[in-house]
Amino acid sequence: MPPYIGRFAPSPTGPLHAGSLVAALASWLDARAHDGIWLVRIEDVDFTRIQPGAGQRILQQLADCGLLPDQVPVWQSQRGAAYQYALDALIRADLAYPCACSRSEILTVLAQQGRLPARGQEPVYPGTCRAGLNGRAARAWRVRLPEDAGQPLHWCDRWMGAQSQVLSQEVGDFVLKRADGVWAYQLAVVVDDAAQGVTDVVRGEDLSSSTARQIALQRLLGLPTLRYLHTPLVLDAQGEKLSKHLGAQAFVAGRQSVQAALCVLGLDVQADTLPELLAQAVHAWRGSRLRALPAAQAPRPA
Ligand code: GLU
Repeated sequence: MPPYIGRFAPSPTGPLHAGSLVAALASWLDARAHDGIWLVRIEDVDFTRIQPGAGQRILQQLADCGLLPDQVPVWQSQRGAAYQYALDALIRADLAYPCACSRSEILTVLAQQGRLPARGQEPVYPGTCRAGLNGRAARAWRVRLPEDAGQPLHWCDRWMGAQSQVLSQEVGDFVLKRADGVWAYQLAVVVDDAAQGVTDVVRGEDLSSSTARQIALQRLLGLPTLRYLHTPLVLDAQGEKLSKHLGAQAFVAGRQSVQAALCVLGLDVQADTLPELLAQAVHAWRGSRLRALPAAQAPRPA
């Protein structure tokens, strides 16, 4: 069996809720079912959103559910030098450029072009600073998407099946470092997954729309493309995704919460104790998901 390294990468904007437990459990099960390594990375780059103490609380919640990482957790706030190194490599290759546009300026240009985003959608960057700043002050750094970003980028999700996105139409040159100095999630996650040798990303379905951006960045940085599995989301009574900033409750750690999360994953297993429940779940996951594992893709020549 090929080496397997998986990870759970929560943002410490609050404690884990029932939805994030599903993603944590799925990534742990997939790693255990492959006799692989399971890592936890605390994604605390965005100091405007993190809640003091939430990272430690999340690690405790995981431990209380029997989900123990195989290595000391990595904290993204300690990884700035690695993100800068990757950004510098992109700048040298003319694959990143400084951007002076504020959000309202971007929306003004899009309005003139009749391309304002639909409600809940992010604006597609119109490329204003691609050819230079025109004397304006740089605020953020953006990736310069290559020409093939006008074609669909395809990948096969192990749960959701065939997926594709046309990055230049649906996203545009996305941000790598924000105007407030915060490293963008897309860059940090790609750099860290590669640095930690991650082979398999298992996470919630809400992040599937980031996958094409991450594969594109992996290619630009000459890094391997990973395997992806996006798990179903847990919805609240109104049919909305459970979300920390909408005030979703922390789950009560223990067997019952794990059992409920397993149900969302379609695993109908019963046991009296948490260790037995987890052992049975690994067995059930092996039966249901293991055969679908495709080969990881080697990096394309730069
Ligand atoms: N930190 C991200 C979040 O909590 C997840 C990152 C990932 O799994 O790629 O939403």
